[in-house]
Amino acid sequence: MTLVSPTEGSTAGRGAARSRRLWSQAEARALYESPFNELLFRAHCVHRANFDPNRVQLSRLLSIKTGGCPEDCGYCSQSAHHNSGLKASKLMAVERVIEEARKARDMGATRYCMGAAWRSPKGRDMDAVVAMVEGVKALGMETCMTLGMLNLEQAQQLKTAGLDYYNHKIDTSERYYGEVITTRSFADRLETLDNVRDSGIKVCCGGIVGMGEELADRVDMLVTLANLPEPPDSVPINMLIPIKGTPLGEAQPIEPIEFVRTIALARILMPQSHVRLSAGRTAMSEEMQALCLFAGANSVFVGDTLLTADNPSEDKDTALFRKLGIEPMELSAR
Ligand code: SAM
Ligand code: SF4
Repeated sequence: MTLVSPTEGSTAGRGAARSRRLWSQAEARALYESPFNELLFRAHCVHRANFDPNRVQLSRLLSIKTGGCPEDCGYCSQSAHHNSGLKASKLMAVERVIEEARKARDMGATRYCMGAAWRSPKGRDMDAVVAMVEGVKALGMETCMTLGMLNLEQAQQLKTAGLDYYNHKIDTSERYYGEVITTRSFADRLETLDNVRDSGIKVCCGGIVGMGEELADRVDMLVTLANLPEPPDSVPINMLIPIKGTPLGEAQPIEPIEFVRTIALARILMPQSHVRLSAGRTAMSEEMQALCLFAGANSVFVGDTLLTADNPSEDKDTALFRKLGIEPMELSAR
């Protein structure tokens, strides 16, 4: 995976057809550290120039196979390496997944995300996940899967089944990656992103902040994402949920203003991506979420649980969006 090298204000991209601005760490860092009002004003202007600032894309996430994962991601309750007390489950029946997706659609979600606690899917799993994609697609929803690492053949199989998005996070900076995960490399993640992109599936890729990383790591993660051969269509920014029994269970939470700055920088570096306020919203005040939405976040997960972590209730989200005059984004608006 060749990361295009960031040089000040240059434009380059995949082949001659695409040209766009690439970012350097220095430029991004200067933006991140600019006066808060300057940063937010610029981020909001970029957001307004590319999206309706009063619309938010609603996704719903279902864990189709929970726990017992062979990877050792330091934040994750689903890793078999940690004692989080989570009960592992087998792969959910296809019919059950489609039933859950139907309920989500009837409650307004336009995208359905299915996640499995795998290092990567095995051959024996592929028929079932392909059937899930076909079934959810038939409901008229956008489909998203996050199954761990994929080879090109698996990605092409999912594309043929109609998969719209594949979620695969780089989690943090390349420098800090080994502090969080040791059972795979940063390059492994980038290789899956290549396979997903090359098979024509849209990429959903972001990371987690508040894991003890440095400021430079947060900036570097966003610059890596922005300088990918194509910026991700969706960029989930998770705020670490410290989970007991995991190596990051005692991590100090990120300072709220620093989190808002991270959202604003993501918006400026990736003006046409959906920036998702992902895990951690239950620990965010309404004011913090409102600032993130002003800074350019325009996608959230709805529903009481993410894969295994808590999420604000539907009522809470509906009340917040009503206060802010924010409406769900229509499918066609993407
Ligand atoms: N096993 C697949 C993989 O790792 O690619 C599925 C990913 S699933 C969507 C897990 C994602 O949820 C992680 O990549 C991370 O971004 C987020 N996540 C998991 N545990 C978290 C935690 N404790 N705090 C914040 N985000 C978390
Ligand atoms: Fe496994 Fe994914 Fe959790 Fe890592 S984040 S331990 S790969 S389920």
